[in-house]
Amino acid sequence: MHYPPAVASRVEAARISRWIDRFAAMTEPGHGVTRLAYSPLEREAHALFAAEMTALGLTVKTDAAGNTIAELAPTGDEGDAAEHAPAIGTGSHLDSVPEGGRFDGIAGVVAGMEVARIAVEEDVQRRRPWRFVAFASEEGARFGQACNGSRMIAGLTRSADLHALHDANGVTMAQAMMQVGLAPESVDSARWRADDWFAFVEMHIEQGGVLESKGTPVGIVDTISGSTRLQATLLGQASHTGGTPMRLRKDALVAASECVLACQAIATDPEHHGTRVTVGRLEVFPGSITTIPGKVVFTVDVRDVDSDRQRRTSEALASAFERISAARGTTLAVEVIGDTSPVVLPSWIVDEIAAGAADVGLAYRVLPSGASHDSQQINRVVPAGMIFVPSRDGLSHVPEEFTRAEELADGATVLLRTMVRLDAAA
Ligand SMILES: [Zn+2]
Repeated sequence: MHYPPAVASRVEAARISRWIDRFAAMTEPGHGVTRLAYSPLEREAHALFAAEMTALGLTVKTDAAGNTIAELAPTGDEGDAAEHAPAIGTGSHLDSVPEGGRFDGIAGVVAGMEVARIAVEEDVQRRRPWRFVAFASEEGARFGQACNGSRMIAGLTRSADLHALHDANGVTMAQAMMQVGLAPESVDSARWRADDWFAFVEMHIEQGGVLESKGTPVGIVDTISGSTRLQATLLGQASHTGGTPMRLRKDALVAASECVLACQAIATDPEHHGTRVTVGRLEVFPGSITTIPGKVVFTVDVRDVDSDRQRRTSEALASAFERISAARGTTLAVEVIGDTSPVVLPSWIVDEIAAGAADVGLAYRVLPSGASHDSQQINRVVPAGMIFVPSRDGLSHVPEEFTRAEELADGATVLLRTMVRLDAAA
């Protein structure tokens, strides 16, 4: 077994802070950061990442799905064999939810940028190519389905699927991609080959409160929840609020309200310890004070680390909605708009990250991730792991999302040490 060579530097908090500020400035006006999947602002962020990596001397390319990949060649003169050794990689995403925070996704990309800089400036020895990735379109907020760039890399979303997914304005993912100069018809070419890769590690903010509450600087993820997303449409009868007696109404919002409470009841019964169900979007039509709601469209997000229970819960919810709708005299249609299985990440990568944390004297804790991540998809092709850093008050997807620069730098330093270890691993 090769012993990893010493790396002198730790990642500097001040440098991380400057990058976070630069990316945060690329936003729609308003609260927090809004840089949606496959928007011109997301592309601008990818261009900044690409420019920095090019300036450091890495080879940068953007694939047909919009993922930007920068490669640092192996050191020494082992020549061809090293050039073609399976690579190690790190990365995360640069898009955000509407009115989101400054750290979700960006933290991991910025950590990689600083790891790359130290690797170049200190001439850190490398037996393998090191790749730094900014994934496209990770957030499901715009198109319903999350992790689109990494799903295309893993072959889970294909070119033909891009016409079926659309945003709230009816723009399909294929159209959105074309509008920013990408090639939806060629995304099958973005797939990674397993024999081209050795391992992948993503740093990300925790988006939960475990690390902060335990006072632990580093989290190592062992499992990632799956997510099933439903869209339910209830059709009732719109009519005059004054003229229609209560007993004759088919009020779609009353039925929807009962459905929301059914979600809460099912997710909190004794069989569902750990299941998380959320109705995060609900639209009422026609949306007038003086008209009984004739139509309601709402989304349901079901998360679980148990894939069977995730699917059973989604089915139980659909049946409950059906019963409620029938009792209220409305009609119901339920559509599955996203479905991703939970994954167990390889334990040998958990061990390498733990050793990387020990190298820099930082305490760690192994924990599950309730949120979806690109690593979940990437793990289909490349053994993947995740490093979590603390989220203040556990908040994420809101402008209040916050992680101290020192905590980000600690996580990035663990990432650097883990890369060095993975590079040396047989
Ligand atoms: Zn994220």
